[in-house]
Amino acid sequence: MNNENKKIKIPRVKMPEQPAGDRIKNFKEVELGLSEHQAVEESLRCLQCKKPICIDGCPVEIDIKSFIKLISEKEHKKALDKIREKNALPAICGRVCPQEDQCEKKCVLGIKNDPVAIGKLERFVSDFGEKEKKDKNKLEKSTHTSGDIVIKTAVIGAGPAGLTCAGELAKLGYEVTIFEALHKAGGVLIYGIPEFRLPKSVVEREIEYVKSMGVEIILNSVIGKTLTVDELMDKYRYKSVFVATGAGLPYFMDIPGENLNGVYSANEYLTRSNLMKAYIFPNWDTPIKKARKVAVIGGGNVALDSARTAKRLGAENVYLIYRRGEAEMPARIEEIHHAKAEGIEMIFLANPVEIIGENGWVKKIRCIKMELGEIDSSGRRRPVPLKGSEHDIEVEVVVMAIGQGPNPLLTSSIPGLKLNKKGNIEADEAGRTNKKGVFAGGDIVSGAATVILAMGAGRVAAHCMDEYIKTGSWL
Ligand code: FAD
Ligand code: SF4
Repeated sequence: MNNENKKIKIPRVKMPEQPAGDRIKNFKEVELGLSEHQAVEESLRCLQCKKPICIDGCPVEIDIKSFIKLISEKEHKKALDKIREKNALPAICGRVCPQEDQCEKKCVLGIKNDPVAIGKLERFVSDFGEKEKKDKNKLEKSTHTSGDIVIKTAVIGAGPAGLTCAGELAKLGYEVTIFEALHKAGGVLIYGIPEFRLPKSVVEREIEYVKSMGVEIILNSVIGKTLTVDELMDKYRYKSVFVATGAGLPYFMDIPGENLNGVYSANEYLTRSNLMKAYIFPNWDTPIKKARKVAVIGGGNVALDSARTAKRLGAENVYLIYRRGEAEMPARIEEIHHAKAEGIEMIFLANPVEIIGENGWVKKIRCIKMELGEIDSSGRRRPVPLKGSEHDIEVEVVVMAIGQGPNPLLTSSIPGLKLNKKGNIEADEAGRTNKKGVFAGGDIVSGAATVILAMGAGRVAAHCMDEYIKTGSWL
């Protein structure tokens, strides 16, 4: 058997994790990370393909083959540098990217065995770098000046799109200021994705890295209220602005009972628990309703994060109610496995029609059974209600996680800015909007998507902003 055939047969490394019974009692990270020995073993599975098609699956085109080779040589710091050439937030992507739909889906090893665990290796080098405290290198950067004046660029929103764009602009030599509405930077990474999947210390570490490139972050600054984009450009002389305000406005179902006490949007539920630390109330100021029975509506990452948070807050029964089947769930496969192991009860092919209350508080949720019909515009089979199949489930809390859209606060403050029907900013593939000098990217353009796509948009826009500033040409 030749070396390549041997490699194909080696099983993929298994990431150690907290046992389900233990982890539902705490908010600590579920997955514990690979040891150096495991990471090197896994890296040796990589075939070092002549045409590494895994890279085609990565929206920011990390040189996957090279960083894996460096791990196999135990050159972990160099491996991290290799990733950082394209990705400013590797410890985050290594944890939350849907690799099974991206790089790992393309990996040739996946044809005959499990693909190389690219995401887990990415996480390993980022964490290893932190442990060794080797990644403290500040970037050498030239500064763009126009005469004696440094050229200023602004980014609105400190989520993954904004942070990536800012990091790239800093590398290109610009003075960059990020304006962030909340009192903490990170966007969904800090207020949405729970600690047990993405520890806040990891996000803070990556933000420090972006700051170490010279990026300034101004918190508690709601652009559209505190200042407008026109003021930033005309009065404060920012040459170009990147809008990355995300999709933070939750959708509701518009069914009776949604205004009862005990009904939350996933956004509020997760923000209370994550950002405002309601899970340790009264040690922190913000409360959250702790309930025995909780229903979470939806089938994506947001719904799973809410359900698993409810479990950790002490709920005995957490029902995840989804109108399609398991195969159609948009959540990451790994997270679905984790949620099942933690005892989340999945109710497929059901949809709420009413929330029933008593004394102003949620008492039950009325659902109707669904069946799957023709394929709809999303490419999935359309759920159709089955007449007369209504049934009630007793619950005290309902969390709506059926999607979120753009907040109009900022967009409505930019005169003439072109939006689509859903209120997302219209931008071309380079992030250019119809307003000269104003770029946009991430969820505010694409609608709710993924961390890596937001980062990709931030990266592309930064380079286009550079071109615009240098040439002055627009569209
Ligand atoms: P955001 O992360 O939303 O950041 C926008 C930032 O802009 C926020 O900090 C906001 O406060 C700020 N802002 C808004 N308005 C203003 C204003 N007027 N002035 C100043 N600042 C403003 N994706 C994955 O890839 N994997 C996952 O596992 C995953 N899980 C998720 C779980 C949850 C609970 C949620 C909600 C999303 C999840 N996603 C996941 C999606 C992913 O987080 C988003 O696609 C990504 O964060 C979008 O990045 P962004 O930078 O465009 O916006
Ligand atoms: Fe390695 Fe898979 Fe990429 Fe080939 S496709 S270089 S095996 S990670």
